[in-house]
Amino acid sequence: MLAPPTCLICRAPLARRARGPALCTRCTAGLESAPGALLRADGLDGGFAALPYAGVGRRLVAALKFGRLRSAAELAAALIEERAPAGLLDGVLVPVPASPLRLARRGMDPAREIASALAARTGLAAADPLRRRDLRRQRGGGRARRMRNPPRVRVTGPLPETVVLVDDVVTTGATIDTCARALRRGGALRIRAVALAAVPGGRGA
Ligand SMILES: [Zn+2]
Repeated sequence: MLAPPTCLICRAPLARRARGPALCTRCTAGLESAPGALLRADGLDGGFAALPYAGVGRRLVAALKFGRLRSAAELAAALIEERAPAGLLDGVLVPVPASPLRLARRGMDPAREIASALAARTGLAAADPLRRRDLRRQRGGGRARRMRNPPRVRVTGPLPETVVLVDDVVTTGATIDTCARALRRGGALRIRAVALAAVPGGRGA
């Protein structure tokens, strides 16, 4: 027996099965009215987040993390591709590496899933040359402590000249900044970033 279709973002029941991503009218309207934002981090040559990390953006990020990873990542990739400024999505897609603690706890990696969906949509190549080690647990540390203790990121493989970092959520921008510096030290020449969502008014957005 088929379960009745529900909205990918808020899980409201839907009257009928949709052809594209299954979204209720409220979430569709929320996505349409939510503005994208430019991302700024010291090491970046440009960046963009498709949604604010608030309202429907926050609920879509939650959908990525709690059980609807694949279809939420496909919607995230579609939003990023549709909304990114011209010329930004050009280069090899590189996911921001997940925190080993988070990966061990949840066993899923939203940034990698979005990068893979974005590669499938755009035809851009994807690579996974970054590895991350957290110095300290970041949870509950607050923004100031996260800025003081950014994760340690190293390059494990050959780097393309032009990289597009891919992340699910940008909060302080510290992780993107650390990744951009590691890529630059490893020889990448142009480094941009795209994310599904960014904290409004945060340093990253
Ligand atoms: Zn909905």
